[in-house]
Amino acid sequence: MKPTLPKSYNQKILRACYEFELVEPGDRILIGFSGGKDSALLVWALGLMVKHGILPVKIVALTIDLGFEDHFDPQPLQEFCAQVGVELVLLSTKIGTVALEADDPCATCSYLRNGRMNRYAITHGFNKVALAHHHDDAVETFLMSILYAGQIRTFQPKTYLDRAELTVIRPLVYLREEEIKAAERFLPFQPVAKTCPFDGFTYRQKVKDLIASLNEDNPWVYGNLSRAMRSGRPQSLWPPVIEPPQRPSQK
Ligand code: SF4
Repeated sequence: MKPTLPKSYNQKILRACYEFELVEPGDRILIGFSGGKDSALLVWALGLMVKHGILPVKIVALTIDLGFEDHFDPQPLQEFCAQVGVELVLLSTKIGTVALEADDPCATCSYLRNGRMNRYAITHGFNKVALAHHHDDAVETFLMSILYAGQIRTFQPKTYLDRAELTVIRPLVYLREEEIKAAERFLPFQPVAKTCPFDGFTYRQKVKDLIASLNEDNPWVYGNLSRAMRSGRPQSLWPPVIEPPQRPSQK
């Protein structure tokens, strides 16, 4: 069957590329491919756009084996990438073992995984790294930051890491998670089973469930969070905390 990407997916990815200036001709982009549904769609979409000359860039996919299982079989990932002409590189690591021992496994895991990916990109001449975060990820991160870090923030569609001289791009930010799930109808790929013992028990999962439950009561909740994470929205925040002046010491 001829590889295809439905128009609505094409339009949303190109909208993000255009609006946030994610891609420039001649870019060398390393795509993070975990073997999950989100990154599979990213590889597929960018692969087809490059193949059809829509994006005049060079792309390579990178899979980081976190080492949660004894044997990781990269063959299904390689066969999938080959269908859209994308080269796949596999890095074997023990990040999972380190994360399992850490106080905050997910933070440790993400930090080490991003570090490995960025290092690979820099040492192999890539100027951009593409990640598969979608719109629900951005909204969940926004609420998580408020609830667990006391900050009003989320990740950006495009971030320049000046120390690494590398740009991180997220071309799927206009796609909802349900659209990515629905992509299984045209993606010839079975997502790799998740073997991390923390999967499904994370703070992100709690926030995802919370948003879903609130949205059931009031279908505007997700959209309101989405609008609130945009700068330029009306804000009414208290001024910063001012520490009381120190009393002069008594002599
Ligand atoms: S759920 Fe597992 S694989 Fe995912 S970030 Fe956390 S530790 Fe890493």
